[in-house]
Amino acid sequence: MMIDLHTHSTVSDGTEPPAAVMRAAAAAGLDVVALTDHDSTAGWEAAHDAAAEAGIGFVPGMEVTCRTVEGISVHLLSYLHDPAHPGLLAEIDKARDARMTRAERMVELLAEDFPITWSEVTTNHLGHGATIGRPHIADALVAAGVVADRSEAFAQILTAHSRYYVPHYAPDPATAVALVREAGGVPVFAHPVASSRGRIVGDVVFAQMIEAGLAGVEIDHRDNPESGRQKLRRIAARHDLLVTGSSDYHGTGKPNRLGENTTDPEMLDRILALGSGAKPYLPGRLAR
Ligand code: AMP
Ligand code: FE
Ligand code: FE
Ligand code: ZN
Repeated sequence: MMIDLHTHSTVSDGTEPPAAVMRAAAAAGLDVVALTDHDSTAGWEAAHDAAAEAGIGFVPGMEVTCRTVEGISVHLLSYLHDPAHPGLLAEIDKARDARMTRAERMVELLAEDFPITWSEVTTNHLGHGATIGRPHIADALVAAGVVADRSEAFAQILTAHSRYYVPHYAPDPATAVALVREAGGVPVFAHPVASSRGRIVGDVVFAQMIEAGLAGVEIDHRDNPESGRQKLRRIAARHDLLVTGSSDYHGTGKPNRLGENTTDPEMLDRILALGSGAKPYLPGRLAR
């Protein structure tokens, strides 16, 4: 069984529409896929239908952007939450609005030095109603011939240390964990040791997230260095957290390939048992 629980579509910063992600997942030999766009569930319906058509399982998910702590941007995966839960929805909407204002400001600053405009970013590089992020700005820089691809844009111009970088509102990690739980979702800490320096968020933040109801940690992810994975395995064992492995597929936006990391079926079972806000789609051969 091949299970990949972290992918992005044009609903956020992936490059393929939700249905195309599901078809690509089936073509890659995956049995179960989760769609986890940043701060949006707008792709669930199309993904569900395409997964059913392709005969693979679909787990509705989302990746909640949380406040940056100690210089590390915390991302929280949520599976099977109620997409209409008012508390969670309010936070997500607030963060999405803040992302829009922030992206416009970043483009204003960038436009002083590079030939890009806000209207070009939103018209040519952003899906309708999609959650905007630095990758869409990167795409405008690529189109303008400033950089070759998103990776180069992030390395040279869009890093958090860049003078063009502008922060935006996002919920506190522990608050996000609690809201996901309230919405019947299963909160899983995404790529917890992802950073160029291999640093992990402090034990205090981790403890607060666990206290708030964290259910799992994403360990097998290309951005988690091996040293950090060992620490995560110890934390998971100590607190009985479930562990996942995923690709974090973004289409052509990142080198990450579907199924490059996968999740054990028993871990998926734990997620399915815990989630109560939305239903997964499991074809007959996978029904439990
Ligand atoms: P933002 O949420 O707007 O601050 O941008 C962060 C997003 O950019 C994350 O969702 C990543 O998927 C994406 N990202 C980060 N680094 C890179 C990179 N080197 N190449 C492509 N996308 C990246
Ligand atoms: Fe992303
Ligand atoms: Fe992430
Ligand atoms: Zn992601």
